[in-house]
Amino acid sequence: MKKTDKALKINYRSYLVINTIGYLGITVHLALIPVFSFLGLTLLSFLNIFSSFMWITGWRVNRLGSHDLAITLMISEVIMHTLFVVPLVGWHAGFQYYLLGAIPFSLFNNKFNGRAIILVSIGLCITFIALDVSTHDAPQTLELSAGLIRLINYINIVIAFTAVGLISYYFRLASITQEQELEKLANTDSLTGLYNRRRMQEILESQKSLSSQNRSGFALIFVDIDHFKKFNDTYGHSCGDYILCEVASFMRNHLRQGNALARWGGEEFLIMLPNTDIREARTIAEKIRKAIAEERFHLAGQKFSVTMTFGLTQHENNDSIDNSLKRADDALYQGKKAGRNLVMG
Ligand code: GH3
Ligand code: MG
Ligand code: MG
Repeated sequence: MKKTDKALKINYRSYLVINTIGYLGITVHLALIPVFSFLGLTLLSFLNIFSSFMWITGWRVNRLGSHDLAITLMISEVIMHTLFVVPLVGWHAGFQYYLLGAIPFSLFNNKFNGRAIILVSIGLCITFIALDVSTHDAPQTLELSAGLIRLINYINIVIAFTAVGLISYYFRLASITQEQELEKLANTDSLTGLYNRRRMQEILESQKSLSSQNRSGFALIFVDIDHFKKFNDTYGHSCGDYILCEVASFMRNHLRQGNALARWGGEEFLIMLPNTDIREARTIAEKIRKAIAEERFHLAGQKFSVTMTFGLTQHENNDSIDNSLKRADDALYQGKKAGRNLVMG
């Protein structure tokens, strides 16, 4: 399998959870081999060799991208181990608690849908009750002291709770990360990394309410690259993309924190300057216009220069965002008509 195919196949969330639980399962089972042997419980010791083998196999196949097989192996091991050990050492040693961990763990099996997870839960519940009925008051097959049973019970409780805790922790972590990624995708322009139009519209609306509360104003500046089409036609679309990214980060570096910059569409950008009047906005726009015209962008051994036209306006508190945008757009149009590489408004 090629490296990229492998990367595509691996679901990072499942990988991480199964890998961590895998480490826990392997460590616990390996550690218990000498412990049981020391206690004279040879049968349990052998059982742990077999269990360790299943956990190591599960951990390995997870690393190769077969998350579903890994989970199936690990959950099967838990069920088999419980079914074998509980009748052997009795209900009071607490090996049945591991069945509970299998429920949240099954969430990471991508082949399981909601119904499958409920069926797994019901199956585990029935197994739990059946074990209780058959072993709760039954005499132990293995003669262990009450103190040892109690110790094993506490150890099992700690490990089972840790496993459930770890699974829940990673599930939460994965959900939060996914949420943040989705939010970023919904708010940013994929080419330049700037805010997209949708997010900028939200920012404008919230700035409008903030400004009317504070009785302050804000400025809007439309910025459009001059003759960009010609540039695209001469040097190619990917070279155009490169210039868009360079111009975007150039402008971002020339703005202050709190200023908002978005790619409004194509080769057009929108800047929002809070608490700024038109005079200050003109100064800022003029500074960026001059700096960008003097800048040289390098690509494939060539130097490129770019000029931009700026159309600005001040948002009045009793006006709508659409009207302000229209005024800035009209100013930009005037700038284009007047010869480009200008600040208008
Ligand atoms: P003006 O000075 O009047 O603004 O002229 P212009 O050529 O910049 O404007 P026009 O609207 O005629 O052309 C804009 C061009 O921008 C056309 C389109 O192919 C290009 N463009 C829009 N989006 C992208 C993009 O994401 N990548 C690249 N490379 N080009 C784009
Ligand atoms: Mg243009
Ligand atoms: Mg344009």
